Amino acid sequence: MKIKKGDTVEVIAGDDRGSRGTVHRVLPKEKRLVVSGVNMIKKHQRRTGDVRTQVGIIEREAPIAVSNVALVCPRCSKPSRVGYRIMEDGSKVRVCKSCDETID
Ligand SMILES: [Zn+2]
Repeated sequence: MKIKKGDTVEVIAGDDRGSRGTVHRVLPKEKRLVVSGVNMIKKHQRRTGDVRTQVGIIEREAPIAVSNVALVCPRCSKPSRVGYRIMEDGSKVRVCKSCDETID
C-alpha cells in the first residue's frame, strides 16, 4: 500500500472526484481506505441498549478503492504519483513524482 493512515488524499475517480480528506483507516486486504468526509453514506441507526448511541439517520464514510484516490503531496499539494527511494541507511521512503520530495 502506497497510502498510509494520516495521509491526505484526493479522489480522482467517481462521484467524489476532486474532494480531499485524511485517511483514517486502511484496509489492505480489500485495497480500500476510509477517508474523512469522502464517500459519505447515510445509515439508519436503530436504538440500542446504549444511551450514547446516536439514533436516526447518521452519515458515515464508506471505504473507497485505493485506485480511486491519489496521495496529495505535502510539499507541492498536488495529487501525485508515488515512487520509492532507498535511502543510504537502507530504508525505503515514498517520493512524490511531481516534485521529487520525500513524503515519509
Ligand atoms: Zn510533490
